[in-house]
Amino acid sequence: MTSSSFTALFLFALGAGLLTRLWLAQRQIRHVAGHRAAVPAAFAASIALDAHQKAADYTVARVRLGIVDLLISAALLLGLTIGGGLQALFALSAAVFTPATLPHGMAFIAAVASVSWLVDLPLTAYRSFVLEARFGFNRLTPALFIADALKGIVLSAVIGLPLIAFVLWLMAAMGQLWWAYVWAFWLGFNLLVLLVYPTFIAPLFNKFQPLEDGPLKTRIEGLMERCGFRLSGLFVMDGSKRSAHGNAYFTGFGAAKRIVFFDTLLEKLAPTEVEAVLAHELGHYHHHHLWKRLAVIGAGSLIFFALLGHLAGQDWFFNGLGMQESGTAPTLVLFALVLPIFTFPLTPLMSMWSRRHEFQADAYAASQAPATELISALVKLYRDNASTLTPDPLYSSVYDSHPPAAIRIARLQGATR
Ligand SMILES: [Zn+2]
Repeated sequence: MTSSSFTALFLFALGAGLLTRLWLAQRQIRHVAGHRAAVPAAFAASIALDAHQKAADYTVARVRLGIVDLLISAALLLGLTIGGGLQALFALSAAVFTPATLPHGMAFIAAVASVSWLVDLPLTAYRSFVLEARFGFNRLTPALFIADALKGIVLSAVIGLPLIAFVLWLMAAMGQLWWAYVWAFWLGFNLLVLLVYPTFIAPLFNKFQPLEDGPLKTRIEGLMERCGFRLSGLFVMDGSKRSAHGNAYFTGFGAAKRIVFFDTLLEKLAPTEVEAVLAHELGHYHHHHLWKRLAVIGAGSLIFFALLGHLAGQDWFFNGLGMQESGTAPTLVLFALVLPIFTFPLTPLMSMWSRRHEFQADAYAASQAPATELISALVKLYRDNASTLTPDPLYSSVYDSHPPAAIRIARLQGATR
């Protein structure tokens, strides 16, 4: 391949992906706005018209902001690659550190990450302080926003820099098959994060308290007993510190696995509903969804790392994306920037797979706790999180990790009969 034909391929993939995403966003806005006037019949008894309209407005506002985000990201990507931004940052870091050394590569990667972060920052702030605030969801204060950002920067430096240094060293020292070593390290690191995140990193941002004794805990322990499930803890997280959205999640694996409830979720749901939500989470565990995802991501990423190994030796890859030099750090940066453009067609497949898992977890939940409780919990969550009940079917099939409310609830109703 020549560098100019690779530039053309890159621009085509970027343009096609962008147009597809914009088209889908327009469809979603039209569909949601078109169904704003009336609550869908299946929810007429449980969701009021004003809540339905708030969900429609919130969905449309988020999709609009997503369009802005999409355009900014595309402009940044073009500016960094064929606009010469990466080449300039590479030259700048070479002026400070000895060219083609490890510190030069690290400085280059840090510079690119900092630029991307700075470009994203206004939109991140806008999302919390304008969009989420307008719909009454934001609880983040400017002081907390800054504290979060500073903690993020310190964590990135403390964990990210040594990580980058090690990867760059592997690339230089491991010969032809360096990409296989980098892949194995990357996979191992991800597993390690899964293991240590709940106990060491999450507490830097939130408070976790063991769930207090009471009717809820008794119910949950009964459920665990029935499902034959052991875990290292049940925790309540102060999610209300940042947002009014409620959630529950299941985290870690092996001895470190724990269930975390947002305090905002426990405020909204009755103990029987919390039990049903938890039964759904246990369904994911029962079906080994985490391990299946990891296996597919691990195997799939091996292909991408092999591709990375191949591209590192191709001049057209660097020149076609606006860099005059090749090298370990430019290889990593270009690959990380450009890969999502080419993997966008995989998005609907991954979403479809995820929705299948949600159905399986729902079916499991319905076998361990009354499906009616899960239905009423879901209706409350859709209402209180202002999630739309009327997504565009095509938009939803491409992006949504969870099935649309109406379909999900109809299936659960089938399970109650
Ligand atoms: Zn789920």
